[in-house]
Amino acid sequence: MRFATKAIHAGQKPEPRTGAVNVPIYMTSTYSQVIGTEGYEYSRTRNPTREALEENVAALEGADHGLAFASGMAAIGTIMTLLKGGDHVVVADDVYGGTQRLFRQIMEDYGLTFDFVDFTDVAAVEAAMGRHTRMLWAETPTNPLLNVVDLRALGNLGESAGVLTVVDSTFATPYLQRPLEFGVDMVVHSTTKYLGGHSDIIGGVVTTSDDEIHERLRFSQNALGAVPSPFDCFLALRGIKTLPLRMEAHCENALQVARVLNEAKEVGAVRYPGLENHPQHSVAKSQMKGYGGVVTFEMENGMRAQAFMRALELIVLGESLGGVESLIEHPASMTHASVPPREREARGISEGMIRLSVGCEDLEDIVEDLERGLNTLRN
Ligand code: PLP
Repeated sequence: MRFATKAIHAGQKPEPRTGAVNVPIYMTSTYSQVIGTEGYEYSRTRNPTREALEENVAALEGADHGLAFASGMAAIGTIMTLLKGGDHVVVADDVYGGTQRLFRQIMEDYGLTFDFVDFTDVAAVEAAMGRHTRMLWAETPTNPLLNVVDLRALGNLGESAGVLTVVDSTFATPYLQRPLEFGVDMVVHSTTKYLGGHSDIIGGVVTTSDDEIHERLRFSQNALGAVPSPFDCFLALRGIKTLPLRMEAHCENALQVARVLNEAKEVGAVRYPGLENHPQHSVAKSQMKGYGGVVTFEMENGMRAQAFMRALELIVLGESLGGVESLIEHPASMTHASVPPREREARGISEGMIRLSVGCEDLEDIVEDLERGLNTLRN
């Protein structure tokens, strides 16, 4: 099966009893041990709707296994159980703020140590590795700076050093990039974003082709219990059916929006991996099918950024991204507020920075709304 076919069918054969074409929402906590024959016992451990989602996302990533979680953070937290006190992790210095919060404010208290380095510079990653390094944690493209990590170099480094590699591929989705093909060990997604695609669920997923990693994560999934509800799994499956169509629209709209913003006098630097001036444009081109739906850009200061965003009428000011509707946000005060201000500045997340998740609306309507915001600054 090819990608769009997998998105619609993988893990989702018609239900044998009635022929229903959609996987039923098995809204049950437990199963009759007299009637049931397939080994289902309790839904924290196994649930057929969840398994359909896990099989589906694994197929899209080209992975042997998938595990679904109650949120992207639950997936990330569960991956941390592969480590033990004293282990060292090298982390990309601009990963999602919530990931940084988990690592710095919780996992460090459990004896893990983290070094945050620029993953666009593989030599810097290698230099940060030591005797106790067990994991390299990357995100690509990153949130909100849209830096792109060279997946082949990362996979090679992990393999040659014998350390686990993890890529948070939330911004790209398996439609645009498949890190396992480059030798990465695990891929994590917040399904809250593009996979779900409709801003109506919170969820996460981890895929891997390593049997042992999968078994350890499955044990932790059941032991920690951060599993998604069957209804949310159904919504994720429903969203994924249109993933290729939506991603094409997101990419097309975002590229045009990036070009428009790039031309506007009121806007400073525009970051979008599809623009030729993006520092890792050629890496993105070599490993991604398209450049995603997020555009990050700068206003002169925080006040102008706020004035611009509040003048918008179509584009919603709110956290999150990846839904069919356009969403805009201010990383310094919203998604990345938990990153200490000095670190934020050092990494280039300025007070004037704005992150725009370009939706699937008509391009002209999105551009008109952005013009409305820019006009407010002109008056
Ligand atoms: N990873 C990335 C790149 C994200 O942007 C987010 C949320 O914004 C997460 C992980 C966390 O996902 P969730 O909000 O589903 O827990």
